[in-house]
Amino acid sequence: MSVEVLLRQARDLGITLAVDAGRLRYYPAGRMPTFLAEALRAQRGEVISYLAGIAGTQEHKNTRTCGACGQRLSTHETRVAGTCLRCMGDEEFHAAIRSMGTRRRVARAG
Ligand SMILES: [Zn+2]
Repeated sequence: MSVEVLLRQARDLGITLAVDAGRLRYYPAGRMPTFLAEALRAQRGEVISYLAGIAGTQEHKNTRTCGACGQRLSTHETRVAGTCLRCMGDEEFHAAIRSMGTRRRVARAG
């Protein structure tokens, strides 16, 4: 199984994966099925470098994927923020929604 598939499966189960001090962590741990935990352990090195790569892109503006979940970012606001709407904090989320509404109004006016 590829790292992308493993991470997608974890995400579909509502599990967040993170690298903490070089160790792979996930939560809530209770939701992680044994088969997936074993697959992740077997490919730990690749998973860690994949996640580290995602974290690295978060430092750049206008990145194309969410720094938290890796989802493709489809709007200008989410690209600038570097996270999808789902992963944004409340303030950032509301600012993005407001900004999107403004952009649509401007587009209609033109
Ligand atoms: Zn996200």
